[in-house]
Amino acid sequence: MMHNFIPPDRFFPYLTWTDIRDMPDKSKVVIIQPVGAIEQHGPHLPLAVDSAIGLAVIGKALERLDASIPAFAMPSIYYGKSNEHWHFPGTISISAETMIRVLMETGESLYRSGFRKWVLMNSHGGQPQIIDIVARDLHVKFEDFEVFPFFTWRVPHITKQLMTEKEGRLGIHAGDAETSLMMAILPEQVRTDRLVCEYPHGLPEDSLLTLERNLSIPWTTRDISKSGVIGDATVATKEKGDRILDSLAQGWADVIVDVHKFVQPQLWKEN
Ligand SMILES: [Zn+2]
Repeated sequence: MMHNFIPPDRFFPYLTWTDIRDMPDKSKVVIIQPVGAIEQHGPHLPLAVDSAIGLAVIGKALERLDASIPAFAMPSIYYGKSNEHWHFPGTISISAETMIRVLMETGESLYRSGFRKWVLMNSHGGQPQIIDIVARDLHVKFEDFEVFPFFTWRVPHITKQLMTEKEGRLGIHAGDAETSLMMAILPEQVRTDRLVCEYPHGLPEDSLLTLERNLSIPWTTRDISKSGVIGDATVATKEKGDRILDSLAQGWADVIVDVHKFVQPQLWKEN
């Protein structure tokens, strides 16, 4: 069962080289590359959370994608840049340089095979910068290579509607959203007797500085959390997880259609 959550007929490694040689209009085929992490997610969730979420979401998205849209998922890249968590054992972290090389060389291999649409589907909040750099550099190197630097949680989805305002703002790691989702994806791997609520300690108040995004402070997880959790896992439910998974899968099915339809503007080619 190498294909994991991916429908077997949408799993790239199950193709043969002649299948790929004979594929009609390869330039319109969408190849999705899940990029995850193996990193601590508190005492209640397994290390695989980010990888599992990416694979489950793309698997469900491909299940509902119209059969007329050609799209295949690659095996996940499981290891990511997770050094913000590396004081917690079990966390595996590779450097930005290593990750850039793996992704660049994977992309070049796909390009050489004739593919022109590659979606990087990153599920780990610590590495969107790497995904952005790779997408830009591959597109500069191969001008007709469309590489899309996406984050799993950036498609339209309903998660915030199911959380408290505080959780929506601060629950960034192993909290309500990820725990609920894991209860839906891999329920037997959630240690429900160890659920934690821990919000980040020591954040500046009355300040423009934030934990992530706009004006972020320097942090590693142990600076702000004892358990490794940033958020409230005690309120997680499978019912919420099912709804989050469904909305993320629909968002991904929709964005794959848009990537398939997308035509690269090349103004410089006109005179
Ligand atoms: Zn995570």
